[in-house]
Amino acid sequence: MTPDARILDGKAIAGAVRSDVAGEVGELSTTIGRAPALATVLVGDDPASEVYVSNKHRACEEVGIESVHRAVPGTVGQSELEEIVRDLNGEDEVDGILVQLPLPDGLDAGPVIASIDPMKDVDGLTAENQGRLASGSPWLVPCTPAGVIEILDRSDIPIEGKEVVVIGRSNLVGRPLISLFLDRNATVTACHSRTVDLPGVCRRADILVAAVGVPGLVGADFVKEGATVIDVGINRTDDGLVGDVEFEQVAEVAGAITPVPGGVGPMTIAMLLANTVKAAGSRR
Ligand code: NAD
Repeated sequence: MTPDARILDGKAIAGAVRSDVAGEVGELSTTIGRAPALATVLVGDDPASEVYVSNKHRACEEVGIESVHRAVPGTVGQSELEEIVRDLNGEDEVDGILVQLPLPDGLDAGPVIASIDPMKDVDGLTAENQGRLASGSPWLVPCTPAGVIEILDRSDIPIEGKEVVVIGRSNLVGRPLISLFLDRNATVTACHSRTVDLPGVCRRADILVAAVGVPGLVGADFVKEGATVIDVGINRTDDGLVGDVEFEQVAEVAGAITPVPGGVGPMTIAMLLANTVKAAGSRR
């Protein structure tokens, strides 16, 4: 059966963001006399992390952002790793710093993130950037939640005054999204693993966002007719990559829906590029 819902094509929207970023990189490079630069710190040799970092380098290259890479052995000490980050803070020609997570066992990500200069914190994970976002004056915002808002905006789906339900309250996705939707004057409900009657609460939503990590959690019974459904989940299963939403069923009820893959996923790197340009622009 063909889905009734409009499919929100994250890949195409991410392409449009990247192309805008490429234009801004061109202008900024003229103003500051060099290309903006993103530093990546990869600790250890986890193959998945290596792929993520090399994808980020490729994306940077495509829009004209310089990559500065620090490959750090997994045997690095906690304070030595924090020192590497602080050195990057002090490098004038580095505009953004990204520490690829998760770190190998034995290293604590909290203090490493805390050592990133908030002005260069393109993942938006430092306490300063999270606090700014939570208090209504965002600066660098985490990339995946920023990508969700970008999909809605570029698809002309209004947010102001709408009932928004976000499932998931992580620092990486759920919490920043709740703040971003509040900033856009939505009426926001935050759901999590202890929410009572999750389907009933979700059925209130004009915009429903699932950021959980449970394959197929959101069925058609969670969705009000015509609602917009954004699936942040990325779950590897025997059937391949799936989201948190039962796509086929939900697409028959929803008004618009993001697929997995090809929905929110491609937006994350696009917003990282946008954050790098923002960070570089603020340092001119
Ligand atoms: P997390 O595990 O840190 O948080 C999951 C949240 O879901 C928690 O707040 C928890 O309370 C809630 N939850 C768990 N089980 C639940 C249930 N049965 N009912 C309701 N709520 C429940 O995960 P995360 O880092 O926020 O990531 C969430 C999902 O998004 C994962 O699948 C992850 O792979 C994906 N993700 C995608 C991108 C992307 O680029 N598209 C980026 C980051 C994360």
